[in-house]
Amino acid sequence: MPEPALNAVVTLRTEISPWLIILRVAPDGWSLPAFQPGQFAVLGLPGSAPRCSLAVSEETPADPQKLIRRAYSVASSSLLSEYMEFYVALVTSGALTPRLFELNIGDRVWLGPKVTGMFTFDQVPEDKNVVMIATGTGLAPYMSMLTTHLNCGDARRFAVLHGARHSWDLGYRSELMTLVHLCKNFTYSPIISRPADEPIPWTGATGYVQDLWKGNVISDAWGFRPTPEDTHVFLCGSPAMIEDSIALLSTEGFAEQTRKTPGQIHVEHYW
Ligand SMILES: Cc1cc2nc3c(=O)[nH]c(=O)nc-3n(C[C@H](O)[C@H](O)[C@H](O)COP(=O)(O)OP(=O)(O)OC[C@H]3O[C@@H](n4cnc5c(N)ncnc54)[C@H](O)[C@@H]3O)c2cc1C
Repeated sequence: MPEPALNAVVTLRTEISPWLIILRVAPDGWSLPAFQPGQFAVLGLPGSAPRCSLAVSEETPADPQKLIRRAYSVASSSLLSEYMEFYVALVTSGALTPRLFELNIGDRVWLGPKVTGMFTFDQVPEDKNVVMIATGTGLAPYMSMLTTHLNCGDARRFAVLHGARHSWDLGYRSELMTLVHLCKNFTYSPIISRPADEPIPWTGATGYVQDLWKGNVISDAWGFRPTPEDTHVFLCGSPAMIEDSIALLSTEGFAEQTRKTPGQIHVEHYW
């Protein structure tokens, strides 16, 4: 079977750091499908595409024309039909990300025509508050969810807890700070784990993102501590954070949502 043509074009590349980019990709001659915030699309490039200089070298792919495909949460609004935005971390030993990092405006890429996934608000009743916990690019699906589900001034409260190593790894920070300014029912708490690396002393929270849940940031903002009766929690990012957070939340009565059992913890595993 011949590989599909590269059917989309990069229309914006924002470098958050040398290891983090936001890629905006527009379909060329076709229409983006409808999707729900939190779902993921697939990006692909052939093995013949060049790798960025930070990548470690790899063996030449057996079939250089074959597309390397990986899933990426859509970070842009489901109300937008012009393009999709993706928040991508470089895995220096990876197959696809070193190639995605070489893309520039005008370059072609394959964007899968299907957007799928269960990490959505489908099982979240509209009267429940929402806490979104992410490490790194695990923030991506929340950026899409907020554009659709956050109504400023509503009784329903939203909190984003975002963990990264350094302050410069906190992508979308100014957008989230703007939302805090505009929406009384929205809370954003970044936390960094390597404050010693900061060129200017970091005055915010330090440690792991789970530490924010253990502390008082949400109850200080909301005036009460979230419980399984009033709040659903989303987890996205590193496996260690997800495992620790589920264990922590379980001690407070939260249960994981599965295909068979309802729960208040919704999980997306990136790897
Ligand atoms: C539903 C879903 C949504 C995803 N959304 C995003 C997203 O929005 N942004 C994003 O950057 N990635 C996302 N990923 C991960 C993405 O699909 C790729 O796995 C990742 O970009 C690495 O691809 P690669 O080909 O460069 O590495 P590969 O050659 O596939 O090697 C991956 C290996 O590198 C390790 N690794 C280290 N750091 C990471 C990391 N940050 N992500 C994945 N693997 C890592 C793991 O051990 C993993 O097995 C998502 C994955 C899934 C399943």
